[in-house]
Amino acid sequence: MEDLYHDESFRGRISSVTASGKRNWIYALKPTGRLYQYRNYLAWSCLAIFFILPFIYVRGNPLFLINIIDSKFVLFGKIFWPQDFFILALGMIFFIVFIALFTIIYGRLFCGWVCPQTIFMEFVFRKIEWLIEGSPGSQRKLNEGPWTAEKVWKKSLKHFIFIAFSFLIAHTFLAYIIGVKAIWQLMAQPINENIGMLLSLSAFTFLFYGVFAFVREIVCTTICPYGRLQGVLYDKNTMQISYDYDRGEPRSHYKKTAQRTGGDCIDCRKCVIVCPTGIDIRDGVQMDCVGCTACIDACDEVMDKVGFPRGLIRYASENEISEKKPFAFTAKMKAYSAILLLLMCSMGFMIVTRTEIDTHISRIKGQLFQEVDENTLSNLFEAKIINKSLTEKDVEIKAEGIPGTVKLVGMHGFHLKAEAVNDFTFFLEIPKSEIKKRSNPITIGVYENGKKVQTIHTTFLGPFK
Ligand code: SF4
Ligand code: SF4
Repeated sequence: MEDLYHDESFRGRISSVTASGKRNWIYALKPTGRLYQYRNYLAWSCLAIFFILPFIYVRGNPLFLINIIDSKFVLFGKIFWPQDFFILALGMIFFIVFIALFTIIYGRLFCGWVCPQTIFMEFVFRKIEWLIEGSPGSQRKLNEGPWTAEKVWKKSLKHFIFIAFSFLIAHTFLAYIIGVKAIWQLMAQPINENIGMLLSLSAFTFLFYGVFAFVREIVCTTICPYGRLQGVLYDKNTMQISYDYDRGEPRSHYKKTAQRTGGDCIDCRKCVIVCPTGIDIRDGVQMDCVGCTACIDACDEVMDKVGFPRGLIRYASENEISEKKPFAFTAKMKAYSAILLLLMCSMGFMIVTRTEIDTHISRIKGQLFQEVDENTLSNLFEAKIINKSLTEKDVEIKAEGIPGTVKLVGMHGFHLKAEAVNDFTFFLEIPKSEIKKRSNPITIGVYENGKKVQTIHTTFLGPFK
């Protein structure tokens, strides 16, 4: 018998390129089935979140803002400044470790279910295409046929909607960068005042349009670096979309009346024609598989029709298929999951406990102590208080654990401008009886609305003893 499963010749081909080197346009069948329905719900939820999030503001701050132009980031309504860069750097490390560990256990689950490329391509652009141009067969006929009035109308309508949707996506991404309010302001201004912005938006609109109208699955199979990483991250216990070759082979066509002697695969190729990347999962695990589950649904439907058990194609590790072991949450997976949970909790803790006020207090260089009267000494301090929020704030500064008086120089109070570094100079007066040596460690508290938000440790200079 010809060993079809172990024929590795497919590894030398790219599904999106023909043998003569031309683009092989994939006409994927519209998936139906249980998993596709779940993905549909999830995709619409993700799209709703993506388009609604920029409009959500918390205490005057957008919930999310990734302003790479001004190095200002708002996550969950909290502003992160360049001073908070360690959190962002940790976040990046966390993200990379998370992705690696997640992929080792769960394979391309992310790509198939929540990757923006998959969501936009499969649940927005391809749906528009199916709606206007019909089934894959009709699309092929239309593409290969002459330019009739119907073809011109359908193509123009499709590409017009594609460009409009790409324009909307580009604006939404811009809203994540500069905020929705800034976009409204820009729209109210004359176009010639924002030519640069208009050009960037047009460039991004046409980038998205190009990706979803023409490049399509090549993003996942060739361009995406995450996709390229799969090969080194997978092991034999990684969960992936697998064809159960032990059960399926030898494949043969189904005949209702004949006694079946081969495997359960009836070679209907439904799993192939539904695949958005144009591969045959029966060839084995391939980097071109984006884990979209369309072939699982398609095969389950076929199995139902012929009366065989579902799951000929299913989520399974290589070990599950080859050694017939049920999916086991191995010690390695448990350890990785625990690390993932720990990383998530630490990041969450850092974000939640981060304050909006960051104070730096130091004695003014070159200044010694001053004698205010026979019982009191003072030192001159400077304070740099960063207000990371979008609202103005008033704070108080107090000496902690010792009687002390703060006297601001040239101002009436510690009033903080929004989103700014606020500079203050103040005298701290302390009774002589509290000063025991030349350099005395002291603690200063920063209070907002009577609640301590920060504790600063510094020194107070006394007479040389
Ligand atoms: S859909 Fe199932 S039965 Fe049909 S070819 Fe694919 S694996 Fe075989
Ligand atoms: S092989 Fe199956 S899961 Fe992988 S991309 Fe194709 S249809 Fe989706």
